Amino acid sequence: MDREFQSFHITASSDPVAGRILRERLTERGLAEEQSGLKIELAVKPELAAESFALHCEPERAHASVAGGDLLGLLYGVGKFLRSQRWRAGGFGCSALKLAEKPERRLRQVYCAGHFHNFWQVAPEPVQRRCLEDLVLWGANSVHLLILPVIDFDDDWENPQLKAQMDKMAALVRSFAAIGLKISTDVYVNQSFRNTPKELYARPNTDPRRGNNGRNVCISKPEGHEYVMRNFRNYLERVRDLPIHFWRFWPYDEGGCTCEACSPWGSNGFLRTAEEMAREIRAVRPDARFIVSTWTFDRQEWEGLAARMRENPWIDYVVADGHGDFPRWPLEHELPGGVPLITFPEISMWGLGPWGGFGATVLPRHFTGLWNQVKGKAQGCMLYSEGIYEDLNKVIELQFYWNDRPAEATLREYADYELYGADPEEFLALCRLLELDHVNDPDAAPAGLAQKALALAKKLDAALPEAGRRSWRWRLIYLRAVLDVERLVGRTVQSETAVAALRELIALYGLPKYSEELGPMHRAIRPPLYE
Ligand SMILES: [Zn+2]
Repeated sequence: MDREFQSFHITASSDPVAGRILRERLTERGLAEEQSGLKIELAVKPELAAESFALHCEPERAHASVAGGDLLGLLYGVGKFLRSQRWRAGGFGCSALKLAEKPERRLRQVYCAGHFHNFWQVAPEPVQRRCLEDLVLWGANSVHLLILPVIDFDDDWENPQLKAQMDKMAALVRSFAAIGLKISTDVYVNQSFRNTPKELYARPNTDPRRGNNGRNVCISKPEGHEYVMRNFRNYLERVRDLPIHFWRFWPYDEGGCTCEACSPWGSNGFLRTAEEMAREIRAVRPDARFIVSTWTFDRQEWEGLAARMRENPWIDYVVADGHGDFPRWPLEHELPGGVPLITFPEISMWGLGPWGGFGATVLPRHFTGLWNQVKGKAQGCMLYSEGIYEDLNKVIELQFYWNDRPAEATLREYADYELYGADPEEFLALCRLLELDHVNDPDAAPAGLAQKALALAKKLDAALPEAGRRSWRWRLIYLRAVLDVERLVGRTVQSETAVAALRELIALYGLPKYSEELGPMHRAIRPPLYE
């Protein structure tokens, strides 16, 4: 039986952060904080397993308790508590519930790719922090931050803009470490600054999947090696005191050199430079953990990496994934030393551009297929995010890695919590339609589907309470339905309706006024309106 509550009071004996996060979400939903309301007891109980939680709701005695094995476990329990209630305007119906959960996979990381003047680069820190806290409530335990987007800067460590960017990222690193997240960042092997001397350039990649963006240095040229190591040491000096847990090395896109001395890059030039850098990091940070990516590796590179891992076991995690299907090698072989395999699900750029240019991206069927390929092997994920438009994909993936939760169950829970008032089955139907319309080419879109999605979006819009209707999560979904009709049926995004929708998206992402100075890659993340 449900019991209605319009007020609450929190007792948080061991942790102020979880109390603050829960209080903020309850009060913004119109609940009052009063002694007579539902008493919610929050506690860290070390006898519970790390990252696990126990949740107990007893509405008949106006009492609920959330216990976590540690700070993160408590936050996961708070998230589940919030999503277990039946929300109405100004209150919720609470049912008796007893639940204990713990995550099945060890790394559930969100990678905030802050570059190209996208949301993760330009949005104010409190806005970004709030978005990430919400993802922690869905099960994230780590965040990857691009502390220094070299692709956007010249080699000038005194440049005030570069310093300001690094200071902002350092503040985020500290605030997320403080809530228990493990922080991860990049170590650039041969990706370099915009004004890198031309004589140091790498020989370009020949495989287009490996990209030739940015400036890559040939580390087999002695001056190239010296230049890369000098910049690496400058960088390390500036970040060595930050609470960074994972240091990640990435081979291609950006990166790579096809000269004879560096080839094959993944198991030769890349790996030996990464080893050299890892030794220097370990000397100043004995607690460092190293992640090595194998993005676009071929068979020869995989075999070279495995042989090297047997000789020198310095790698803690290996990342693998592909633009389409998952690479075969790691599915067919064990990594030496039992090193865990981490996936890199392509949640933000796959199949539709500009990325987030038309609002929300939601691909439950696509990601379920990929999850089924890897779930017998993968022990974690890194979710590459270019902004907030792939919020639905993020929670689907986080819940896969939490306890193999089906995508549709997650979407229903998302609707019940974030979009209460909307019928979860209708929301699910809308998500399925948006996935079928996830194409760039109007001729590839099934006839009549975009209009059907928009009609359903309008029905859901009318059912939402005012706050839900105006929330960024819902506006991104609604605007996607609007823009799909404009671009796929009307075949233009220059109509009055489309321009208004694009303008709203740009404001929701917090993007600056357009100018050429934002660089050519800015267009890849900007809704297509250049004003
Ligand atoms: Zn080279």
